[in-house]
Amino acid sequence: MCNKFDTKAIREGYQSTNEQEHSEAIFMTSSFKFDSAEQAAAIFSKEEPGNIYARFTNPTVAAFEKKLATLEGAQTCLATSSGMAAIFATIMALVKPNEHIVASRNMFGTSIVLLNTIIKKFNIAVTYVDLSDLSQWKNAVKDNTKLFLLETPSNPLGEVVDITMLSKISKPNDILLSVDNAILSPALQTPISLGADIVIHSATKYIDGQGRCLAGAVLSNKEIIEQISNFARTTGPSLSAFNAWIVLKGLDTLNLRMKAHCDNAFKVATWLEAQPQIKKVYYLGLRSHTHHQLAKTQQLGFGGIVSFEVKGGKIAAFKLINATEIFSITANLGDTKSTITHPATTTHGRLTDKERLSVNITDGLIRLSIGLEDIDDLIADIKI
Ligand SMILES: *Cc1c(COP(=O)(O)O)cnc(C)c1O
Repeated sequence: MCNKFDTKAIREGYQSTNEQEHSEAIFMTSSFKFDSAEQAAAIFSKEEPGNIYARFTNPTVAAFEKKLATLEGAQTCLATSSGMAAIFATIMALVKPNEHIVASRNMFGTSIVLLNTIIKKFNIAVTYVDLSDLSQWKNAVKDNTKLFLLETPSNPLGEVVDITMLSKISKPNDILLSVDNAILSPALQTPISLGADIVIHSATKYIDGQGRCLAGAVLSNKEIIEQISNFARTTGPSLSAFNAWIVLKGLDTLNLRMKAHCDNAFKVATWLEAQPQIKKVYYLGLRSHTHHQLAKTQQLGFGGIVSFEVKGGKIAAFKLINATEIFSITANLGDTKSTITHPATTTHGRLTDKERLSVNITDGLIRLSIGLEDIDDLIADIKI
């Protein structure tokens, strides 16, 4: 009965208590009590299932984990306090000192900072490669390579890698392939079905979708999630029950919202592409995008991120951004509210001029995260 995405997104994951509540309850409790000393002993020794302490498990968090696992087609899920907490816990649990990671050069900025600073202290080396270039991934593999880390599509330019082809490089080498799926969400892409071993989420983005809280998740098989859970329950990046409830309710409307984000983004991108003053538009849904065909084969939609380059560099870009009245000037994305940002001086500001240009983040580039406002109002707000 419960096998289609929207039914699962609304019905899976939660069993009501004896109070017969129709909507999910928020279990705001740090610890759980036992009927007897015997039961406490049985639950502590894992002979019996049960909650002990919210750093380990909480029913509201568990409902979110179960629902997201179903939607991603994963055996199981661990929710975390943020997307970064999920990425950190995954690396720390699965990669040992003197092992090696191959990572995509154009991942989320803080993921790169994490690898280059904190992870580096554990003597874990990283080789960066161009996301779409399979031969670079292959050539970067060493005897001690443990993990492939990437996001597809990349943000802000929408580069894509063929996940199935990449898994044919990782699997024979016993490398775990981890895909950050925050930009599309399981409504538009399920990396595990394409051959990935691990999916990571910043649920802060489209899963909440309304800019209310931070949350993260990592999904995989039971054995891998057990290792990551053991790391998390000892170090404490647990998701709060309240934030779990927000993202749990976010999943109810995820598919509907993603369709609307895709529709609005396609219309904005098509309109921008027709404007002579615009040098280039980057949106995977446009035929002009280099990775349009590949995206079509592994994604169910093209998402809500549209980037474009104006003539006149930084001055023209700042002018356009400052002239908007509806778009929020913020680097966040995946919100019902549309946002606008200048990557070269914000998300990619830490790069040198040369590094920025090598990844096509020019001074005239503007990134939009298209929200759910009326499309005519949004287009009218972009004054070229
Ligand atoms: C925002 C983001 C993150 C980090 O998530 P937080 O919830 O902010 O910690 C990781 N990956 C991607 C692709 C993101 O967009």
